[in-house]
Amino acid sequence: MRIIFQYINRMFPKTVFRRLLIGWYEKHQRDLPWRRTGDPYRIWIAEIMLQQTRVAAVIPFYERFLERFPSVEKLARTPEEQVLAAWAGLGYYSRARNLHKAAKQIVERGGFPSTYDGIRSLAGVGDYTAAAIASIAFGLPYAVVDGNVIRVVSRLDNEAATRARIEARAQELLDPKRPSLFNQAMMELGATVCLPRDPLCLLCPVQSSCEARRRGTQNELPVRSGRKATKRLKRLLLVVEKGGRLLMGQASRPKGFWELPEAGQLPAAVLGSVAGEFRHSITHHDYRISVARAQVRGGPPGFTWIPLKKIDLHPVTTATRKALACLTEKESSRKA
Ligand code: SF4
Repeated sequence: MRIIFQYINRMFPKTVFRRLLIGWYEKHQRDLPWRRTGDPYRIWIAEIMLQQTRVAAVIPFYERFLERFPSVEKLARTPEEQVLAAWAGLGYYSRARNLHKAAKQIVERGGFPSTYDGIRSLAGVGDYTAAAIASIAFGLPYAVVDGNVIRVVSRLDNEAATRARIEARAQELLDPKRPSLFNQAMMELGATVCLPRDPLCLLCPVQSSCEARRRGTQNELPVRSGRKATKRLKRLLLVVEKGGRLLMGQASRPKGFWELPEAGQLPAAVLGSVAGEFRHSITHHDYRISVARAQVRGGPPGFTWIPLKKIDLHPVTTATRKALACLTEKESSRKA
C-alpha cells in the first residue's frame, strides 16, 4: 500500500497534495461563523474584517455588525458616521469607510458582482480579498495569498521566493475543481499547524511534500524583512464631565472620530489623581496611557460637550474607548 502511495505521490504530486490538504481541512477546520454561509455579502464582511485583525477579535464584531446591518442595502443607506461607530474597536477605519462606499457600489450595480474583476473593482478590495471572495462565494479558481499562505508555500518549496513567485506557485497548486476548500485549507494550515515559529510538522497533512521539513529549515522560512523599532510614549487623557455631558474633541486620525482631550490641550484644567492606566499600540508606537478625571471652567475652544447618553451614537477612537472602560472599571471596583 505504501509503495502504491509513493508511486501516486511521485506521478501526481499536485493531486495527492490537494487530496491530503482538503481531507485534513474537512476534518479539522475551526468552526467560524463566516464558514457557515455561502452569502457573498457575509463572506465579504468577514474578509474585510480579517484583513488586519485576528480571528478571535473579529468573531464578536462580525456577529454584532451583521445584526446591525443584515443586508448590503441596509449598510448602503446608513450614514457613514453610524457605520464607523459600529466599527469602533476594530481599528483601521479606512476599511469601514471603503466598506460603506462599496455597499453603495453594489446597490447601484443591482447586486453583488460575481466575477473576479467585478469584485476587485469594489472599494477596499485588493487582490487577496477578491481571490478569497471569488473562490469562497462563487467557486472561481483564484488562489489566495496571505501571510499564512506565503509561509506554507515558502516552506513547501524551501525557498525565500518573491511574492510574484509565491503567487504563481499557489495558483499552480490550487485545486481548480474545489478552489473554496483548497484556499481555506491553505490558510487554515498556516494559521493552526504551519505556525511562524516551531510549526507542528508531525500533525501536518502535507509533510511528505515539504522540502523545508526534509531539510530541517522550517524556522528559517519565510525570510522576514527588517522591522522598524517600536517607540514607547506616554499620554494622559482627561475625562471632563459636566451636567451629564462629556468634553470631547475631533480626532486628527481617524477622520470623523471623537476623542478625550489630552492633558496638554487643557492647560487650565484642574486634574484629579490618575484613576487608571493601560497600554495601547498603533503600528510602531507603544503608548502607556493614563486616565484622570478633570474639571474645566466654561467650554474650552475646539471641544464639544456630548451628552453621555448619546456617546454610543458617535464613533470614538480606540484609545478613548479603552480609557472610558478603564475608568468605569476602576471606579466600580472601588465602590464594590
Ligand atoms: S511539514 Fe511543517 S513546515 Fe512543512 S508545510 Fe507542514 S507544518 Fe509547514
